[in-house]
Formats: sequence, structure tokens, C-alpha cells
Amino acid sequence: MAVREKRRGAPPLEGDEQRLRRKQEEAALLLRRIRGLVRWVVEEVVAGRSPSIVLHRYRNYCSAADAASPSPCVCSYDAPVGTDVLSLLHKDCHTSRLNALLRVLLVVQQLLQQNKHCSKRDIYYMYPSIFVEVAVVDRAINDICVLFKCSRHNLNVVPVVKGLVMGWIRFLEGEKKVYCITNVNAAFSVPVSIEAIKDVVSVAQYILVVEKETVFQRLANDKFCERNRCIVITGRGYPDIPTRRFLRYLIEQLHLPAYCLVDSDPYGFDILATYKFGSLQLAYDANLLRVPDIRWLGVFTSDFEDFCLPDCCLLHLSPEDRRKAEGILARCYLHKEAPEWRSELEAMLQKGVKFEIEALSASSISFLSDKYIPEKIKKEGIYKIDGHTLYPS
Ligand SMILES: [Zn+2]
Repeated sequence: MAVREKRRGAPPLEGDEQRLRRKQEEAALLLRRIRGLVRWVVEEVVAGRSPSIVLHRYRNYCSAADAASPSPCVCSYDAPVGTDVLSLLHKDCHTSRLNALLRVLLVVQQLLQQNKHCSKRDIYYMYPSIFVEVAVVDRAINDICVLFKCSRHNLNVVPVVKGLVMGWIRFLEGEKKVYCITNVNAAFSVPVSIEAIKDVVSVAQYILVVEKETVFQRLANDKFCERNRCIVITGRGYPDIPTRRFLRYLIEQLHLPAYCLVDSDPYGFDILATYKFGSLQLAYDANLLRVPDIRWLGVFTSDFEDFCLPDCCLLHLSPEDRRKAEGILARCYLHKEAPEWRSELEAMLQKGVKFEIEALSASSISFLSDKYIPEKIKKEGIYKIDGHTLYPS
């Protein structure tokens, strides 16, 4: 409990040194707790008993909401919605799940003891016949996080980073200089861990998050950042943990507004929702990974007519798209926190059409960076001047 509560209670603007000290304290505490659990399991087995572990179940959303009468549900970013009992010897009690959990825990213990890092794929290849697939390792890592109330980065299990960043920012990632500001049109990898970031300096007025790498490259080619004081980030599809943590870190450290640009289709909407609400798979950590204030910049179903896009760019929603959209519409967080987003998705479903961000380039290749994004940002009217974030009246 202490690891998570300590982090939640920490001031958002602590210094680099404080953050490093906190990380070392957390690692030492976690290691003590892991050793305690492993010792207890061994003692139980030696004594001929079947050790069992109670794991909380988390859910940041459900699909129980009905359009006509949204029913109150128990989904929460902080409180568990139920429990699973994992037992080592009782066959019907998630035996293999607990077995995988303990195997991964031993690896994590080693990593923390030696202050080393590895990927979940590395862990899989240590016991491939036991884990069968990487997804089993993934679940075990989730279970360990829930059990010890910590996040994946606390376990020294590092992800492969997908995200890219460019624009008016510079920082140190450990000893590595990530000076995007020296060439604002060049793509840099998002840092693996925000704990390694030091000395962040930025003169940006806002952060633009784009769903796709192709759009990120379009903006780079158009020298969008040269003409607009911003930071552009892409998670290249569904954003991974480092991208979401980095985005959240920048918003908190730099007090910048963030806008998100996704395709006008159910998958684009789901990616947008992942940024704002977190994913179900990482529900136990959603509150630390999500960006609740992210704003939806586009593209909207209505943009197609507003910007007179050619009919050839418009596609009909497939049966799978419809199923996906209907599933998202039923999610309780939209009812609770973003009814206006829900209305947009409903409009898409009613019209039965979708189109990609790139459709905006149909009339002019640089329309997106010359007109669409600057005008939408201006309309939103929220930007940062001289350290103050301005809001429209
Ligand atoms: Zn719910």
C-alpha cells in the first residue's frame, strides 16, 4: 500500500533529486515486501499447506450503461470491484496464474536486488515452457502490481518504447541529452521512464497528441513546430505506458494544455479514450496513467462537410466498426465524464461513416498543418503565454 499512497501524496512539482531519492526508497520497500511474501510461500509449502493469495480486481469502466437510463455502477479509479483467490495447490483456484506470478516475482526480486532492468519478453524466455506465451507474463506482471499496489516501472520491467516526440522542449534522460529544441522538426523517442528525466525546459504553448505516425511525419515534413510553439507526441496507435506517462508528466510539469487528433472512426475514438480514461487491462493503474484533461481536437464526423472533403475519402462503417462503436457507447465513463464525446460517437454511428485524418490532405497536402490544426487550436482558445495558461471566456 505504501508505495502507491506515497506516490499519490507526493507533490506534483518535486525536484529531480527528490524524485530519485523517492524512487530508491520505493525500490527498497518493494524488495522487502517481495522477500517477505516469497519467504511466506516457501514456509507454507514446506509445512504441507496450500498458500493462497487474495488479489483485488480493478475496473475503470464497465459496459453496463444504457443510453436511456445510465445505471450507477461501482467502477472506480481507486477502489477494487472484487477479489480473486489464487491458490498454489487447489487445482480450481487459478493454480497456473499463481505459479506464473511467483516465477515472475522471483525474476523481479533479482532485478531489484541487482538494480537491473529487463523486458517482459526477456522474462518469457527464462521459462518459455511454463509461461507458454508472453501474455501470461503480462498478466503475472499486472497481478504483481495489484498485489503490491505499485506500477510496472517499480518492478524494473521495462517496455519497448513506441512513442515519438518533437518540438519546443529539451531534457536529459539519465545522461543522454534529448534536445528536441535544437531541431524542432526531428523525431525523438519518448523516454523509457520518466524517473530518468532531468532538467526539462520548454517554451511550448501546448501539446498536440496525434494518433498516427504518418500524421506525425506529415507535420514534421511541413515544419509544423517551426511555425507553432508546441510539442507533438504520437503513441503510434494505442499508446504504450511510457508515452502516456511522458505525456502526463509534461502536462503536470509544464502546465500545458493537451489536444488529441485521431481518425474519425471507432478505433480513433478508442485511442482517444485510452489517453483520457486509461485501459481496462491496466485499470489498477489508470488513475496514474490517464490524462483526464486531454481535449479532443478532431477529426469529427461534422468536419467532413465543414471542410468540403471529397466523397471518395468517406467510408461506410463496417459491421465490426459498428459493434466496436456500440461497445464504446455503453462504457460508463462516457456517461459520467464525457457525455459530449459520447454524442459525437453517436453521431458517427448514426451517419454510418468514417474517415481518416489524412482525408484532410485531399485538397492540399499541407492543409492539416497550415489551416486545420491552427484554426482548431485557436477556436479552443486555450494556450499558454508567459507561464500562464489562458482559458476562453
Ligand atoms: Zn461502470
